[in-house]
Amino acid sequence: MESIAGTPPQETVLQGIPVSRGIGIAPVHVIARGFAAPEVYEVDDAEAEKVRFEAALKRTKQQLVELQERIKAISGAEDGMIFEAHQMMLEDRAMIDQVNAAIEKRGQNAEFALYAVIQNYLEAMRRVPDPYLRERTADIEDVCQRLLRNFGPEDHRVGGPDERHILVAYDLSPSDTAAMDRRHLSGFATEIGSVNSHTAILARSLGIPAVVGLQKAVLNVRTLTPAIIDGYSGKLILHPTAETLERYRGIRSEKEKVRHELEAQRDAEAVTTDGRKITLSANIELFEELPLVKNSGARGVGLYRTEFLLLKGEQMPGEMEQAEVYSRLAKALDPDPLIIRTLDAGGDKLPVEPLSEPEPNPFLGWRGIRVSIDRPAMFKEQLRAILRASAHGKVAVMFPLVSGIREVREARKLVRECMAELKSEGVPFDENLETGVMIEVPSAAVIADLIAPEVDFFSIGTNDLIQYTVATDRVNHRVAELYRPTHPAVIRLIKQTIDAGLGAGAWTGVCGEMAGDIRLTPLLLGLGVEELSVGPHQVPRVRRAIRTLSHAECAALADQALKSPLSLDILELSTDLARKYYPELLD
Ligand code: PEP
Ligand code: MG
Repeated sequence: MESIAGTPPQETVLQGIPVSRGIGIAPVHVIARGFAAPEVYEVDDAEAEKVRFEAALKRTKQQLVELQERIKAISGAEDGMIFEAHQMMLEDRAMIDQVNAAIEKRGQNAEFALYAVIQNYLEAMRRVPDPYLRERTADIEDVCQRLLRNFGPEDHRVGGPDERHILVAYDLSPSDTAAMDRRHLSGFATEIGSVNSHTAILARSLGIPAVVGLQKAVLNVRTLTPAIIDGYSGKLILHPTAETLERYRGIRSEKEKVRHELEAQRDAEAVTTDGRKITLSANIELFEELPLVKNSGARGVGLYRTEFLLLKGEQMPGEMEQAEVYSRLAKALDPDPLIIRTLDAGGDKLPVEPLSEPEPNPFLGWRGIRVSIDRPAMFKEQLRAILRASAHGKVAVMFPLVSGIREVREARKLVRECMAELKSEGVPFDENLETGVMIEVPSAAVIADLIAPEVDFFSIGTNDLIQYTVATDRVNHRVAELYRPTHPAVIRLIKQTIDAGLGAGAWTGVCGEMAGDIRLTPLLLGLGVEELSVGPHQVPRVRRAIRTLSHAECAALADQALKSPLSLDILELSTDLARKYYPELLD
């Protein structure tokens, strides 16, 4: 891709999996695992930078010698040896030459040149099969960090992450994604990840172009390389030619035009041409997404993933702090609803508390409503906070990962208990608070007729429902091919849930990622879904799709789909109808 000393850069296309639409054009910023990058800025005097590097090396060596002496004095020569190894690294000629070359060729500050060189070493070492060598990465990190600290403060900083950039990383956790400074972010690309991971979902919600599955990207891509990220086709294009840049600028402005046109219709009802109204609401993870929801024209929030509150600390915030966040959201959305999902931690999500030992199968383990029921004090704090917020707007509560009726009853019993407590304390709340259940475990879908009389609504979590129905991990790219939203079993379970709800007067919505896939809007409407809850950025497209479709035609399509044995055929059937009515939205 690029060598520091190397030949003139050539346009290189890295192909990955697209997970969030959009085009970003900016220099790349690479973050190595567990290692914070120093700031980067341009330097005029390369020689002066080399001198700074030399000085930092010297200072670091001196510190290591002193450390070695101290350790030797305390616990003997053996333990001090590690610092000798560290000192040897500082004398590694190849490393020093590469850093000096980077300073010269790229005109970058010394600490950043060092960081870039070291990070390549680190990534290479992480991939060697020899466990001993792999473990040595920690030593290199250690020395590098020490070296970086020894450069001292600098000013006149320009460029780097304070400028627009495309982030390239091995992986990003949902918390990394949530914590990103989005003002300067043009997109991100990771080596691992999948379409249904929470990081990808968050990227779509926030409208950040994203590509995952870019093999060896961290190893091969250098910070500051000019690049384009194409979140439509899953490409990261390095050193784009003038022609490529021109083409992508054209695509980007075209897409932005369409987007603005769609957003301009934010007040239009999500209603089919033959008059069936669909509640189109938004999924949010963070309070900060509220303006996006408003701007999208969504009618409220159909899924608020409260586990993201865990990002603020090690545990869920207390009752009053939660109540404050929920109430502000409820007020801002009123009279549209705010459906608050109770804590859904564990599995691929944030842990609610450290476990004494790792679970053998986290996806089948202690997660969702199971955690809440096992921690009633914590659960009641959340329920009381939700109830408090219900005095400020139209609030509903729903429970994740329900697998059977006992969990529904237990959860509802605790809701009643909280209501009684608040009443005796004189705290106002909505006595008719709607209660719903997420249908995302096949057993719950199969007994939806038994659950329906106990709740006001169902919200189908297709992300998990698919994974559990077809026994395919939603974040494992090796089996991504098997993860099929249109699998006949999934379609049947959705239909069964909707029918069971209808039979008992409970409405059914879909809040999984399937709801935002406009190829499948005809199928979902045809199956009888009453609500779709999607990432804020997807709302305008889904609304347009709904407004062009006839419900009668969708229902006929769903009948046909329910008889079809093959997922690809079902996908094709639905896509055909989508193509007929809104081809311009599909690419
Ligand atoms: C789902 O499983 O479809 C869902 C909406 O919940 P989450 O993605 O948060 O698991
Ligand atoms: Mg789920």
